[in-house]
Amino acid sequence: KIVLGIESSCDETGVGIVRLAGDGSMELLADEVASSVDQHARFGGVVPEVASRAHLEAMVPTMSRALTASGIALSDVDAIAVTCGPGLAGALLVGVAAAKAYAAALDVPLYGVNHLAGHVAADTLQHGPLPAECLALLVSGGHTQLLRIEDLAGKITEIGSTIDDAAGEAYDKVARIIGLPYPGGPPIDRAAADGDPKAISFPRGLTGPRDAKFDFSFSGLKTAVARWVEARERDGDAISVPDVCASFQEAVVDVLTAKAVRAATEFGIGTLVVSGGVAANSRLKALAAQRCADAGVELRVPRPRLCTDNGAMIAALGAHLVAAGVRPSAMDLPTDPGLPVDTVFV
Ligand code: ATP
Ligand code: MG
Ligand code: FE
Repeated sequence: KIVLGIESSCDETGVGIVRLAGDGSMELLADEVASSVDQHARFGGVVPEVASRAHLEAMVPTMSRALTASGIALSDVDAIAVTCGPGLAGALLVGVAAAKAYAAALDVPLYGVNHLAGHVAADTLQHGPLPAECLALLVSGGHTQLLRIEDLAGKITEIGSTIDDAAGEAYDKVARIIGLPYPGGPPIDRAAADGDPKAISFPRGLTGPRDAKFDFSFSGLKTAVARWVEARERDGDAISVPDVCASFQEAVVDVLTAKAVRAATEFGIGTLVVSGGVAANSRLKALAAQRCADAGVELRVPRPRLCTDNGAMIAALGAHLVAAGVRPSAMDLPTDPGLPVDTVFV
């Protein structure tokens, strides 16, 4: 069966195509993404109206590119999956409207799916089906959560989340403070490679003995970086951007990996999946690998292209639902900007 996935929750218009074999295995046939990130860069964050308009313009061309790349015809598509939440209201509407139109025209089932569950499903395209139970660390621009996954087609439980900023948001805000471009993750990741992670000791949020064990906080860290930079500027001292980046990044990934591995150990879960845009981070991957190896936990991190927003992950989750025999969504499927992570499909 051929499952086509449409993603438009934020600033990436994505169309992915997956072939689902009879034995449940999946083959990725196409993964086309058009990003409006350049249009948001000068604002330092995504402007919802700009994103919606960009989706409108990019949807049909991205669909055409995906079909061409896959070598299949639109009429070969057996099911359509689409992100119906969480995300920006206007942006979600464009993808869902397109998905309904294609599903109606082709007379195929429509599956409205959760973007966050999609981030986890992305890993199955690279590493195959998930084990019966696994832990997922979802680290993206809008979310930072530890999830217990008993079944990608329905049973996802949140065991911890950020109480303020998301990890990606912290990268984006710190980049702005030190004058690096938006989005901040990639330039900080690169600059940190030349810096000393021990140069500055930044705070590790929510790691005190009385703090919630599996929750995260990154807003204090962002403020600490701002204060540190301000103090140097006041004294007229030069700052080493690589050292600030490396030290900030170490504070983020230290807490993320420590809590994820601790959760895996305490819940007796043998596999950790790290996904979402921040999972593209090189230091997060390296430290997670080291700590998982020490704890005897298997680590799965998809390639960077599958970590950031894309349509392939939505097609993968849709294919999983098709394989699981889940009933399709109604053709009047609503969007839900605040869709909770435990609602995998609507
Ligand atoms: P959500 O999935 O929560 O709705 P989103 O879809 O906007 O949010 P993603 O596209 O999954 O988020 O991730 C984007 C975030 O990932 C940005 O904050 C960006 O800075 C961050 N990011 C991307 N690459 C890296 C990297 N190499 N290191 C750290 N962060 C990164
Ligand atoms: Mg994005
Ligand atoms: Fe995302």
